[in-house]
Amino acid sequence: MTSRVALDYEVVVIGAGVCGIYQIKRLADLGIHATVLEAAADLGGTWYSNRYPGARFDSESYTYGYSFSKELLEEWHWKERFSGQPENLRYLNYVADKFDLRQYMQFNCKLEAAHFDEAACIWRLRIADGRELTCRYLIMGIGLLSVPTMPKVEGIASFKGRSFHTFHWPHEPLDLTGKKVAVIGTGATAIQVIAEIADKVGELTVFQRRPNWSAPLNNGPISDEEMANLRARYDEIFATCARTPGGFEHEPDRRGFYQVSKEERTALWDRLYDEPGFGIWLQNFAEIFTDEQANAEISEYIAERIRRRVKDPVVAEKLIPKDHGFGVQRVPLETRYFEVYNRDNVRLVDISETPIAKITEHGIQTSDEHFDFDIIVYATGFDAITGAYDHIDIQGVGGEKLRDKWRDGPSTFLGMFIHKFPNLLMPAGPQSGSASTNYPRGIETGVNWCTNFLQYMRSHGYDRAEPSRDAEQQWTEHVTKMYSTMLMRKAKSWFTGYNSNVEGHEEGRIRYFVYNGGSPKYVSRIAQVAEQDYDGIDLSSASSTADPDSMRA
Ligand code: NAP
Repeated sequence: MTSRVALDYEVVVIGAGVCGIYQIKRLADLGIHATVLEAAADLGGTWYSNRYPGARFDSESYTYGYSFSKELLEEWHWKERFSGQPENLRYLNYVADKFDLRQYMQFNCKLEAAHFDEAACIWRLRIADGRELTCRYLIMGIGLLSVPTMPKVEGIASFKGRSFHTFHWPHEPLDLTGKKVAVIGTGATAIQVIAEIADKVGELTVFQRRPNWSAPLNNGPISDEEMANLRARYDEIFATCARTPGGFEHEPDRRGFYQVSKEERTALWDRLYDEPGFGIWLQNFAEIFTDEQANAEISEYIAERIRRRVKDPVVAEKLIPKDHGFGVQRVPLETRYFEVYNRDNVRLVDISETPIAKITEHGIQTSDEHFDFDIIVYATGFDAITGAYDHIDIQGVGGEKLRDKWRDGPSTFLGMFIHKFPNLLMPAGPQSGSASTNYPRGIETGVNWCTNFLQYMRSHGYDRAEPSRDAEQQWTEHVTKMYSTMLMRKAKSWFTGYNSNVEGHEEGRIRYFVYNGGSPKYVSRIAQVAEQDYDGIDLSSASSTADPDSMRA
């Protein structure tokens, strides 16, 4: 028997980032009584938090922006091909203000717990400020990279200078002039920070555990004329993004790797290396992702480009990855990153040889040497994909904890639903199509699908939705199987759930975090599920006694 309850909201969306902003727009348009709870002091998600110097898109700006409003597309002028964080945050604020979405958002509202009340078929939420809320549907827009991780090293708190994770880079201006700065990490974030600050600091020391493959961003301004041209092409641009696996304009080279000569391959790479964005990664031959020999050849090509750019051959070799090939994990894009190591004020410390022993009051002690610093920057990455879920006490049917269910990796249906966690939707969740693509393209797809799903539930008088165990198992097996053909499974990166800073992510243990089938296949599969009346999801009317007055906006 379900019990009569007055719901606070029909839908609660968690997170006011790219996903949450669009999700609340869709819900508001439908007159659904909904709110967004955001832990931060304002909207913007990743673009609110990541304020480190050099933070910018690796997607072409005009493919990153929302596509849902022609008016918005007409109005917004992207100033750079790969726009920087301040502009990106301005854009998201512009969208929220244009569509009057702030009225639905509550800031400084950290969700601590979400428990499914089976008897009433509702979610009971507890916010960090002590408030309790109820809703029928809970939509998670909490991001894939929103829980930063710090190294497990002694003494971090003892440092007397300033230190922070890149995710927490100070919002107020930070004067780096003449400062001795350490950056720990050489991932996509570090590569942007290092290149941006090298000529602004006194001394820069980079602590590298493993190098990352990286290729030039080749950014540039977008003139009024170019923007007008882009606006005229928006339909075509989004159509191209929709048919490419990565959701970008970059289309894979359909010629077989072995069908063209080595000279032709090199000519292609010479061109792509000097072009903007992910071309060198995504306009490449498909074999580089699956075939060891093809991957070795492109890796050697990129290594050679690095050798040409770094004067000291010893340093150059240290910057070339040896444990994985080019492109088997998301490729960081850089702007004169490798040239940084030709500067007199920059030093690379290989902590695979001389590990960090501890952080001291004045700096960093490695097994070999003590370094004094004014500022230590931790560019040490995230508890990716499932981390943001693990940090909330989410309990489903029978009090099952999501973090227990996902201890060895996520299992979902379509990356959007979880068995035993009814009415919890993830437009861009683990194992969904958006994780391995141009995020906003995947997010719009996910939000549209989830919104249509809610409309279906309403129009059919259903209010309880839970994927079957079989559907979840089949999807998870499908996602898992796709890794078996990808060289990606051999790389230690957040794509494969390897993160030594996260409890239980011991070395070599693969977690099947992302759907690797590409955007068109994903979109076709989720469309098929919808066409088949949401086959795989058990739909019912469990709460026919819920107070109908509470459901109106
Ligand atoms: P990341 O790629 O996971 O890199 C983390 C770095 O920190 C790695 O170099 C890692 O070394 C190092 N590290 C971690 N723990 C360490 C420890 N205990 N001691 C020493 N070093 C340690 O994280 P990220 O750079 O923040 O990037 C994450 C993702 O964010 C990217 O893949 C990308 O999708 C996204 N991103 C995008 C952009 C953009 O251009 N739009 C910019 C930044 C980030 P190991 O490699 O040895 O583990």
